[in-house]
Amino acid sequence: MKVLFAASEIHPLIKTGGLADVAGALPIALRKKDIDVKLIMPAYRGILEKMAPVKSSINLGNPFGTGDLILLETHLPESHTPIYLVQCQSLFEREAGPYLDQYSHDFGDNDVRFAAFSWVCAMITQHGRLIGWQPDILHLNDWQTGFAAAYLAAWRLDHPPIVTTVHNLRYNGSFPVEQFDAVRLPHDLLSIHGMEFYGRYSSLKAGLVYANAITTVSPTYAKEILTPEYGDGLDGTLRAASYKLSGILNGVDYNEWSPSIDPFIHTHYDLHSLDLKLQNKLALQRENNLPENAQAPVFGVVSRLTEQKGLDLIPAAIEPALKRGAMLILLGSGDKSLEQQYLALQERYPDQVAIRIGYDEAYSHRLQAGVDTLLIPSRFEPCGLTQLYALKYGTLPIVRHTGGLADTVFEGGENANGFVFQHASVEDLQGAIERSLEAFSNATTWRTLQIQAMSQDHSWERVTEQWIQLYQSLLA
Ligand code: ADP
Repeated sequence: MKVLFAASEIHPLIKTGGLADVAGALPIALRKKDIDVKLIMPAYRGILEKMAPVKSSINLGNPFGTGDLILLETHLPESHTPIYLVQCQSLFEREAGPYLDQYSHDFGDNDVRFAAFSWVCAMITQHGRLIGWQPDILHLNDWQTGFAAAYLAAWRLDHPPIVTTVHNLRYNGSFPVEQFDAVRLPHDLLSIHGMEFYGRYSSLKAGLVYANAITTVSPTYAKEILTPEYGDGLDGTLRAASYKLSGILNGVDYNEWSPSIDPFIHTHYDLHSLDLKLQNKLALQRENNLPENAQAPVFGVVSRLTEQKGLDLIPAAIEPALKRGAMLILLGSGDKSLEQQYLALQERYPDQVAIRIGYDEAYSHRLQAGVDTLLIPSRFEPCGLTQLYALKYGTLPIVRHTGGLADTVFEGGENANGFVFQHASVEDLQGAIERSLEAFSNATTWRTLQIQAMSQDHSWERVTEQWIQLYQSLLA
Protein backbone atom coordinates (compact mmCIF):
# COMPACT_ATOMS: atom_id res chain seq x y z
CA MET A 1 0.00 0.00 0.00
CA LYS A 2 1.41 3.38 -1.01
CA VAL A 3 0.54 6.46 1.07
CA LEU A 4 1.51 10.07 0.39
CA PHE A 5 1.63 11.81 3.80
CA ALA A 6 1.43 15.59 3.43
CA ALA A 7 2.39 17.88 6.31
CA SER A 8 3.57 21.47 6.68
CA GLU A 9 5.96 20.60 9.52
CA ILE A 10 7.93 17.46 10.32
CA HIS A 11 10.18 16.85 13.32
CA PRO A 12 13.22 17.00 13.31
CA LEU A 13 13.20 19.27 10.24
CA ILE A 14 10.84 21.98 11.43
CA LYS A 15 8.37 22.11 14.32
CA THR A 16 5.92 24.52 15.87
CA GLY A 17 3.73 21.95 17.65
CA GLY A 18 2.41 18.42 17.91
CA LEU A 19 1.72 18.06 14.18
CA ALA A 20 5.48 17.93 13.55
CA ASP A 21 5.94 15.20 16.15
CA VAL A 22 3.21 13.11 14.54
CA ALA A 23 4.45 13.66 10.98
CA GLY A 24 7.97 12.73 12.07
CA ALA A 25 6.94 9.48 13.75
CA LEU A 26 3.70 7.95 12.41
CA PRO A 27 5.03 7.46 8.84
CA ILE A 28 8.15 5.76 10.20
CA ALA A 29 6.04 3.45 12.38
CA LEU A 30 3.85 2.61 9.36
CA ARG A 31 6.87 1.88 7.19
CA LYS A 32 7.95 -0.68 9.79
CA LYS A 33 4.63 -2.41 9.05
CA ASP A 34 5.43 -2.48 5.32
CA ILE A 35 3.25 0.45 4.34
CA ASP A 36 5.10 2.41 1.63
CA VAL A 37 4.66 5.89 3.10
CA LYS A 38 6.36 8.89 1.53
CA LEU A 39 6.29 12.32 3.15
CA ILE A 40 5.86 15.64 1.41
CA MET A 41 6.61 19.09 2.87
CA PRO A 42 7.58 22.56 1.59
CA ALA A 43 11.33 23.17 1.28
CA TYR A 44 11.55 25.99 3.81
CA ARG A 45 14.76 27.95 4.13
CA GLY A 46 17.62 25.81 5.45
CA ILE A 47 15.75 22.49 5.13
CA LEU A 48 17.75 21.12 2.21
CA GLU A 49 21.01 21.39 4.13
CA LYS A 50 19.58 19.00 6.72
CA MET A 51 18.72 16.34 4.16
CA ALA A 52 20.41 13.46 2.43
CA PRO A 53 21.50 14.25 -1.15
CA VAL A 54 18.62 14.88 -3.55
CA LYS A 55 17.81 11.80 -5.67
CA SER A 56 15.66 13.43 -8.30
CA SER A 57 14.21 16.80 -9.20
CA ILE A 58 11.18 17.55 -11.38
CA ASN A 59 9.89 20.94 -12.47
CA LEU A 60 6.09 20.94 -12.21
CA GLY A 61 5.56 24.47 -13.49
CA ASN A 62 3.34 26.77 -11.49
CA PRO A 63 -0.25 27.89 -12.12
CA PHE A 64 0.04 30.56 -9.40
CA GLY A 65 2.62 32.69 -11.16
CA THR A 66 5.06 32.65 -8.24
CA GLY A 67 8.05 30.97 -9.90
CA ASP A 68 8.51 27.28 -10.69
CA LEU A 69 7.49 24.58 -8.24
CA ILE A 70 10.24 21.98 -8.11
CA LEU A 71 9.69 18.56 -6.57
CA LEU A 72 12.83 17.14 -4.94
CA GLU A 73 13.08 13.57 -3.69
CA THR A 74 15.37 12.70 -0.79
CA HIS A 75 15.04 11.00 2.60
CA LEU A 76 14.81 12.06 6.24
CA PRO A 77 18.13 12.44 8.04
CA GLU A 78 19.16 9.31 9.96
CA SER A 79 16.31 7.27 8.51
CA HIS A 80 15.28 5.76 5.22
CA THR A 81 11.92 7.48 5.13
CA PRO A 82 11.52 9.03 1.67
CA ILE A 83 10.41 12.62 1.54
CA TYR A 84 9.48 14.97 -1.27
CA LEU A 85 10.31 18.62 -0.76
CA VAL A 86 8.44 21.26 -2.70
CA GLN A 87 10.83 24.00 -3.64
CA CYS A 88 9.74 27.47 -4.64
CA GLN A 89 12.01 30.27 -3.61
CA SER A 90 9.48 33.08 -3.55
CA LEU A 91 7.00 31.11 -1.42
CA PHE A 92 9.03 29.05 1.02
CA GLU A 93 12.56 30.35 1.44
CA ARG A 94 11.83 33.02 4.00
CA GLU A 95 13.19 34.18 7.33
CA ALA A 96 11.26 33.20 10.47
CA GLY A 97 8.77 30.39 10.96
CA PRO A 98 6.75 28.32 8.50
CA TYR A 99 3.61 30.44 8.93
CA LEU A 100 4.61 33.66 10.69
CA ASP A 101 6.97 36.50 9.84
CA GLN A 102 9.56 37.92 12.21
CA TYR A 103 6.85 40.05 13.88
CA SER A 104 4.77 36.92 14.57
CA HIS A 105 2.15 37.90 12.00
CA ASP A 106 0.75 35.43 9.47
CA PHE A 107 2.44 35.82 6.10
CA GLY A 108 -0.04 37.74 3.93
CA ASP A 109 0.12 35.11 1.19
CA ASN A 110 -0.33 31.97 3.30
CA ASP A 111 -3.30 31.11 1.08
CA VAL A 112 -1.16 30.96 -2.05
CA ARG A 113 1.83 29.42 -0.25
CA PHE A 114 -0.12 26.43 1.01
CA ALA A 115 -2.38 26.23 -2.02
CA ALA A 116 0.76 25.82 -4.13
CA PHE A 117 2.14 23.17 -1.78
CA SER A 118 -1.22 21.37 -1.80
CA TRP A 119 -1.48 21.63 -5.58
CA VAL A 120 1.76 19.65 -5.86
CA CYS A 121 0.36 17.01 -3.46
CA ALA A 122 -2.76 16.76 -5.62
CA MET A 123 -0.73 16.56 -8.84
CA ILE A 124 1.32 13.64 -7.56
CA THR A 125 -1.80 11.89 -6.31
CA GLN A 126 -3.60 12.32 -9.61
CA HIS A 127 -0.64 11.86 -11.93
CA GLY A 128 1.71 9.45 -10.15
CA ARG A 129 3.37 8.65 -13.46
CA LEU A 130 5.04 12.06 -13.24
CA ILE A 131 7.29 10.67 -10.53
CA GLY A 132 6.98 6.95 -11.15
CA TRP A 133 5.09 6.39 -7.90
CA GLN A 134 1.31 6.46 -7.65
CA PRO A 135 -0.06 6.72 -4.11
CA ASP A 136 -3.05 4.55 -3.22
CA ILE A 137 -4.00 7.03 -0.50
CA LEU A 138 -3.42 10.74 0.04
CA HIS A 139 -3.15 11.54 3.76
CA LEU A 140 -3.67 15.26 4.47
CA ASN A 141 -3.00 17.03 7.76
CA ASP A 142 -4.66 20.27 8.85
CA TRP A 143 -5.57 23.36 6.84
CA GLN A 144 -2.22 23.75 5.12
CA THR A 145 -2.94 20.65 3.04
CA GLY A 146 -6.75 20.91 2.75
CA PHE A 147 -6.43 22.71 -0.59
CA ALA A 148 -5.23 19.41 -2.10
CA ALA A 149 -8.67 17.88 -1.57
CA ALA A 150 -10.17 20.91 -3.31
CA TYR A 151 -7.94 20.55 -6.38
CA LEU A 152 -8.72 16.85 -6.67
CA ALA A 153 -12.45 17.62 -6.38
CA ALA A 154 -12.16 20.40 -8.96
CA TRP A 155 -10.42 18.19 -11.50
CA ARG A 156 -13.41 15.81 -11.46
CA LEU A 157 -11.36 12.70 -12.25
CA ASP A 158 -11.21 9.43 -10.37
CA HIS A 159 -8.51 9.79 -7.74
CA PRO A 160 -7.12 7.80 -4.82
CA PRO A 161 -9.02 8.15 -1.53
CA ILE A 162 -8.18 11.07 0.74
CA VAL A 163 -7.76 10.94 4.54
CA THR A 164 -7.78 14.28 6.34
CA THR A 165 -6.45 14.36 9.89
CA VAL A 166 -7.46 17.30 12.06
CA HIS A 167 -4.76 18.14 14.55
CA ASN A 168 -6.41 21.38 15.59
CA LEU A 169 -9.77 22.62 14.30
CA ARG A 170 -9.13 26.14 15.58
CA TYR A 171 -6.75 26.78 12.69
CA ASN A 172 -9.16 26.51 9.79
CA GLY A 173 -7.19 28.14 6.96
CA SER A 174 -9.90 30.68 6.25
CA PHE A 175 -9.28 33.61 3.92
CA PRO A 176 -11.36 36.44 2.42
CA VAL A 177 -13.42 35.28 -0.57
CA GLU A 178 -12.05 38.31 -2.44
CA GLN A 179 -8.72 36.43 -2.49
CA PHE A 180 -10.26 33.19 -3.76
CA ASP A 181 -9.12 33.68 -7.35
CA ALA A 182 -5.51 33.64 -6.19
CA VAL A 183 -5.71 29.92 -5.39
CA ARG A 184 -6.94 29.03 -8.89
CA LEU A 185 -10.00 27.02 -7.87
CA PRO A 186 -13.36 27.13 -9.66
CA HIS A 187 -16.06 29.24 -8.05
CA ASP A 188 -18.53 26.37 -7.78
CA LEU A 189 -16.39 25.10 -4.86
CA LEU A 190 -17.39 28.22 -2.92
CA SER A 191 -20.81 26.85 -2.00
CA ILE A 192 -21.96 26.19 1.56
CA HIS A 193 -21.46 22.48 0.84
CA GLY A 194 -17.94 23.24 -0.33
CA MET A 195 -15.34 25.68 0.98
CA GLU A 196 -17.59 28.61 1.91
CA PHE A 197 -17.09 29.54 5.57
CA TYR A 198 -19.14 32.42 7.04
CA GLY A 199 -18.42 34.79 4.18
CA ARG A 200 -14.84 33.55 3.86
CA TYR A 201 -13.52 30.33 2.43
CA SER A 202 -11.68 27.62 4.34
CA SER A 203 -9.06 25.17 3.13
CA LEU A 204 -9.63 22.94 6.16
CA LYS A 205 -13.31 22.73 5.26
CA ALA A 206 -12.28 21.52 1.79
CA GLY A 207 -10.16 18.88 3.51
CA LEU A 208 -13.22 17.76 5.49
CA VAL A 209 -15.85 17.93 2.77
CA TYR A 210 -13.88 16.28 -0.01
CA ALA A 211 -12.13 13.60 2.10
CA ASN A 212 -13.14 9.95 2.11
CA ALA A 213 -12.25 9.71 5.80
CA ILE A 214 -11.66 12.30 8.51
CA THR A 215 -9.70 11.51 11.63
CA THR A 216 -8.82 13.52 14.67
CA VAL A 217 -6.09 12.75 17.13
CA SER A 218 -8.14 11.41 20.02
CA PRO A 219 -11.54 9.71 20.42
CA THR A 220 -12.86 12.35 22.84
CA TYR A 221 -11.93 15.27 20.55
CA ALA A 222 -13.67 13.43 17.70
CA LYS A 223 -16.89 13.62 19.72
CA GLU A 224 -16.34 17.13 21.08
CA ILE A 225 -15.92 18.76 17.67
CA LEU A 226 -19.45 17.75 16.73
CA THR A 227 -20.72 20.33 19.27
CA PRO A 228 -20.90 24.12 18.82
CA GLU A 229 -18.71 24.56 21.93
CA TYR A 230 -15.71 22.79 20.35
CA GLY A 231 -16.65 22.86 16.67
CA ASP A 232 -15.20 26.29 15.85
CA GLY A 233 -17.93 26.91 13.30
CA LEU A 234 -17.24 23.61 11.55
CA ASP A 235 -19.41 21.44 13.82
CA GLY A 236 -22.29 21.48 11.30
CA THR A 237 -19.96 20.34 8.53
CA LEU A 238 -18.57 17.66 10.82
CA ARG A 239 -21.98 16.43 11.94
CA ALA A 240 -22.92 16.00 8.29
CA ALA A 241 -19.64 14.13 7.79
CA SER A 242 -19.78 12.16 11.04
CA TYR A 243 -20.25 8.87 9.15
CA LYS A 244 -16.62 9.17 7.99
CA LEU A 245 -15.14 10.68 11.18
CA SER A 246 -13.12 8.76 13.78
CA GLY A 247 -10.56 9.48 16.49
CA ILE A 248 -7.20 7.71 16.66
CA LEU A 249 -5.01 8.66 19.59
CA ASN A 250 -1.51 9.94 18.84
CA GLY A 251 1.49 7.96 19.97
CA VAL A 252 4.90 8.86 21.33
CA ASP A 253 8.27 8.28 19.74
CA TYR A 254 9.97 6.60 22.70
CA ASN A 255 13.31 6.70 20.89
CA GLU A 256 13.16 10.44 21.51
CA TRP A 257 11.15 10.55 24.71
CA SER A 258 12.47 7.99 27.23
CA PRO A 259 14.31 9.01 30.40
CA SER A 260 16.53 5.92 30.15
CA ILE A 261 18.16 7.07 26.87
CA ASP A 262 17.30 10.77 26.49
CA PRO A 263 20.57 12.49 25.47
CA PHE A 264 19.37 15.88 26.69
CA ILE A 265 18.78 15.08 30.38
CA HIS A 266 21.20 15.21 33.32
CA THR A 267 20.77 11.67 34.70
CA HIS A 268 19.13 8.69 33.03
CA TYR A 269 16.50 6.74 34.97
CA ASP A 270 13.67 4.33 34.43
CA LEU A 271 10.91 2.59 36.30
CA HIS A 272 13.43 0.61 38.34
CA SER A 273 15.71 3.52 39.21
CA LEU A 274 13.15 6.23 39.84
CA ASP A 275 15.18 7.67 42.75
CA LEU A 276 17.55 9.07 40.10
CA LYS A 277 14.83 11.38 38.77
CA LEU A 278 15.72 13.65 41.71
CA GLN A 279 19.12 14.38 40.13
CA ASN A 280 17.30 15.91 37.18
CA LYS A 281 15.18 18.04 39.50
CA LEU A 282 18.25 19.40 41.31
CA ALA A 283 20.03 20.02 38.00
CA LEU A 284 17.00 21.88 36.64
CA GLN A 285 16.87 24.05 39.76
CA ARG A 286 20.60 24.80 39.44
CA GLU A 287 20.24 25.59 35.75
CA ASN A 288 17.57 28.15 36.64
CA ASN A 289 19.43 29.66 39.61
CA LEU A 290 16.76 28.41 41.96
CA PRO A 291 17.80 26.99 45.33
CA GLU A 292 18.35 23.22 45.13
CA ASN A 293 15.48 21.79 47.07
CA ALA A 294 14.43 18.15 46.82
CA GLN A 295 11.37 18.64 49.03
CA ALA A 296 9.77 21.55 47.21
CA PRO A 297 7.11 20.37 44.79
CA VAL A 298 8.08 21.66 41.33
CA PHE A 299 5.37 22.35 38.77
CA GLY A 300 6.27 22.61 35.09
CA VAL A 301 4.76 23.96 31.87
CA VAL A 302 5.95 23.32 28.28
CA SER A 303 3.54 24.95 25.92
CA ARG A 304 2.64 27.36 23.22
CA LEU A 305 1.28 30.35 25.10
CA THR A 306 -2.21 30.64 23.64
CA GLU A 307 -5.72 31.02 24.92
CA GLN A 308 -6.32 27.36 23.98
CA LYS A 309 -3.91 26.12 26.59
CA GLY A 310 -5.66 27.79 29.57
CA LEU A 311 -2.36 29.18 30.82
CA ASP A 312 -4.03 32.39 31.98
CA LEU A 313 -5.50 30.29 34.83
CA ILE A 314 -2.19 29.17 36.30
CA PRO A 315 -0.75 32.32 37.94
CA ALA A 316 -3.74 32.81 40.27
CA ALA A 317 -4.30 29.08 40.81
CA ILE A 318 -0.72 28.36 41.77
CA GLU A 319 -0.08 31.38 43.98
CA PRO A 320 -1.32 29.70 47.22
CA ALA A 321 1.10 26.81 46.53
CA LEU A 322 3.95 29.26 45.81
CA LYS A 323 3.24 30.92 49.15
CA ARG A 324 3.88 27.53 50.77
CA GLY A 325 7.18 27.00 48.96
CA ALA A 326 6.28 25.26 45.67
CA MET A 327 8.19 26.13 42.50
CA LEU A 328 7.06 26.79 38.92
CA ILE A 329 9.27 26.32 35.85
CA LEU A 330 7.82 27.33 32.48
CA LEU A 331 9.03 27.08 28.90
CA GLY A 332 6.85 28.67 26.27
CA SER A 333 6.30 31.43 23.80
CA GLY A 334 3.43 33.07 22.02
CA ASP A 335 0.89 35.51 23.41
CA LYS A 336 2.81 38.58 24.63
CA SER A 337 0.39 39.44 27.45
CA LEU A 338 0.69 35.89 28.83
CA GLU A 339 4.47 36.17 28.63
CA GLN A 340 4.23 39.39 30.66
CA GLN A 341 1.98 37.77 33.29
CA TYR A 342 4.50 34.99 33.83
CA LEU A 343 7.49 37.32 33.90
CA ALA A 344 5.66 39.38 36.53
CA LEU A 345 5.12 36.23 38.61
CA GLN A 346 8.82 35.48 38.33
CA GLU A 347 9.63 38.95 39.61
CA ARG A 348 7.44 38.39 42.66
CA TYR A 349 8.87 34.93 43.43
CA PRO A 350 12.44 35.06 42.06
CA ASP A 351 13.58 32.04 44.11
CA GLN A 352 10.64 29.88 43.12
CA VAL A 353 9.58 30.78 39.62
CA ALA A 354 11.72 30.38 36.48
CA ILE A 355 10.24 31.51 33.18
CA ARG A 356 11.96 30.89 29.87
CA ILE A 357 10.34 32.56 26.89
CA GLY A 358 11.29 30.88 23.63
CA TYR A 359 11.39 27.57 21.87
CA ASP A 360 14.01 25.09 23.09
CA GLU A 361 13.71 21.39 22.27
CA ALA A 362 16.58 20.22 24.52
CA TYR A 363 15.39 22.24 27.50
CA SER A 364 11.86 20.86 27.05
CA HIS A 365 13.32 17.40 27.72
CA ARG A 366 15.25 18.57 30.80
CA LEU A 367 12.11 20.24 32.10
CA GLN A 368 9.99 17.11 31.63
CA ALA A 369 12.61 15.07 33.50
CA GLY A 370 13.17 17.60 36.26
CA VAL A 371 9.74 18.71 37.42
CA ASP A 372 7.38 16.70 39.62
CA THR A 373 4.12 17.77 38.02
CA LEU A 374 3.19 19.13 34.57
CA LEU A 375 0.33 21.62 34.28
CA ILE A 376 -1.92 21.35 31.17
CA PRO A 377 -5.15 23.27 31.87
CA SER A 378 -6.25 23.37 28.22
CA ARG A 379 -9.63 24.78 27.22
CA PHE A 380 -9.54 22.26 24.40
CA GLU A 381 -6.85 19.75 23.48
CA PRO A 382 -7.12 17.63 20.31
CA CYS A 383 -4.65 15.07 21.72
CA GLY A 384 -1.84 16.74 23.61
CA LEU A 385 1.60 15.21 23.57
CA THR A 386 3.24 16.84 26.57
CA GLN A 387 1.11 14.82 29.02
CA LEU A 388 2.20 11.63 27.24
CA TYR A 389 5.86 12.64 27.54
CA ALA A 390 5.32 13.56 31.20
CA LEU A 391 3.82 10.14 31.97
CA LYS A 392 6.89 8.42 30.54
CA TYR A 393 9.17 10.61 32.69
CA GLY A 394 7.27 9.86 35.92
CA THR A 395 6.10 13.48 35.95
CA LEU A 396 2.44 13.53 36.92
CA PRO A 397 0.16 15.63 34.69
CA ILE A 398 -2.54 17.94 35.99
CA VAL A 399 -5.01 18.27 33.14
CA ARG A 400 -8.43 19.59 32.32
CA HIS A 401 -10.90 16.86 31.32
CA THR A 402 -11.01 17.50 27.59
CA GLY A 403 -9.94 15.90 24.29
CA GLY A 404 -6.91 13.66 24.38
CA LEU A 405 -6.16 14.71 27.95
CA ALA A 406 -9.41 13.02 29.02
CA ASP A 407 -8.39 9.88 27.11
CA THR A 408 -4.96 9.55 28.70
CA VAL A 409 -4.89 11.04 32.22
CA PHE A 410 -6.94 9.60 35.06
CA GLU A 411 -7.40 10.58 38.68
CA GLY A 412 -8.42 7.78 41.02
CA GLY A 413 -9.25 4.24 39.97
CA GLU A 414 -6.88 1.52 38.88
CA ASN A 415 -5.36 3.58 36.05
CA ALA A 416 -4.69 6.64 38.22
CA ASN A 417 -1.71 8.51 36.78
CA GLY A 418 -2.36 12.20 37.45
CA PHE A 419 -4.90 14.84 38.42
CA VAL A 420 -7.96 15.92 36.46
CA PHE A 421 -10.32 18.89 36.80
CA GLN A 422 -13.51 19.72 34.94
CA HIS A 423 -14.01 23.43 34.38
CA ALA A 424 -11.57 25.92 32.92
CA SER A 425 -11.63 28.00 36.10
CA VAL A 426 -8.99 29.11 38.60
CA GLU A 427 -10.92 27.36 41.39
CA ASP A 428 -11.02 23.98 39.64
CA LEU A 429 -7.36 24.14 38.67
CA GLN A 430 -6.39 25.23 42.17
CA GLY A 431 -8.35 22.27 43.57
CA ALA A 432 -6.37 19.86 41.38
CA ILE A 433 -3.09 21.54 42.38
CA GLU A 434 -4.04 21.08 46.04
CA ARG A 435 -4.87 17.40 45.48
CA SER A 436 -1.52 16.91 43.77
CA LEU A 437 0.26 18.54 46.72
CA GLU A 438 -1.49 16.22 49.12
CA ALA A 439 -0.40 13.20 47.08
CA PHE A 440 3.12 14.62 46.80
CA SER A 441 3.37 14.88 50.58
CA ASN A 442 3.04 11.10 50.82
CA ALA A 443 6.09 9.49 49.19
CA THR A 444 4.40 6.09 48.80
CA THR A 445 1.30 7.50 47.15
CA TRP A 446 3.40 9.57 44.76
CA ARG A 447 5.65 6.67 43.85
CA THR A 448 2.64 4.44 43.13
CA LEU A 449 1.22 7.05 40.77
CA GLN A 450 4.60 7.52 39.07
CA ILE A 451 4.98 3.80 38.46
CA GLN A 452 1.47 3.63 37.08
CA ALA A 453 2.21 6.60 34.77
CA MET A 454 5.51 5.21 33.52
CA SER A 455 4.02 1.77 32.86
CA GLN A 456 1.52 3.03 30.31
CA ASP A 457 2.35 2.31 26.69
CA HIS A 458 1.59 5.08 24.23
CA SER A 459 4.03 3.92 21.57
CA TRP A 460 3.16 4.45 17.90
CA GLU A 461 3.42 0.69 17.45
CA ARG A 462 0.25 0.38 19.52
CA VAL A 463 -1.80 2.54 17.16
CA THR A 464 -0.40 1.75 13.70
CA GLU A 465 -2.82 -1.17 13.38
CA GLN A 466 -5.75 1.25 13.61
CA TRP A 467 -4.23 3.35 10.82
CA ILE A 468 -3.66 0.35 8.61
CA GLN A 469 -7.25 -0.77 9.13
CA LEU A 470 -8.52 2.66 8.19
CA TYR A 471 -6.42 2.78 5.01
CA GLN A 472 -7.51 -0.74 4.09
CA SER A 473 -11.17 0.09 4.60
CA LEU A 474 -10.81 2.91 2.04
CA LEU A 475 -9.26 0.63 -0.55
CA ALA A 476 -11.77 -2.17 -0.07
P1 ADP B 1 0.25 21.73 20.30
O1 ADP B 1 0.48 20.92 19.07
O2 ADP B 1 -1.15 22.23 20.47
O3 ADP B 1 1.24 22.82 20.49
P2 ADP B 1 1.01 19.27 21.71
O4 ADP B 1 1.04 18.96 23.17
O5 ADP B 1 0.29 18.32 20.83
O6 ADP B 1 0.44 20.77 21.57
O7 ADP B 1 2.49 19.36 21.14
C1 ADP B 1 3.37 20.35 21.54
C2 ADP B 1 4.78 19.93 21.15
O8 ADP B 1 5.60 21.10 21.08
C3 ADP B 1 5.43 19.04 22.17
O9 ADP B 1 6.40 18.24 21.54
C4 ADP B 1 6.10 20.05 23.12
O10 ADP B 1 7.18 19.47 23.83
C5 ADP B 1 6.58 21.07 22.11
N1 ADP B 1 6.72 22.44 22.63
C6 ADP B 1 5.73 23.33 22.90
N2 ADP B 1 6.25 24.50 23.29
C7 ADP B 1 7.60 24.36 23.28
C8 ADP B 1 8.71 25.23 23.57
N3 ADP B 1 8.52 26.48 23.95
N4 ADP B 1 9.96 24.73 23.43
C9 ADP B 1 10.14 23.45 23.03
N5 ADP B 1 9.15 22.59 22.74
C10 ADP B 1 7.89 23.04 22.85
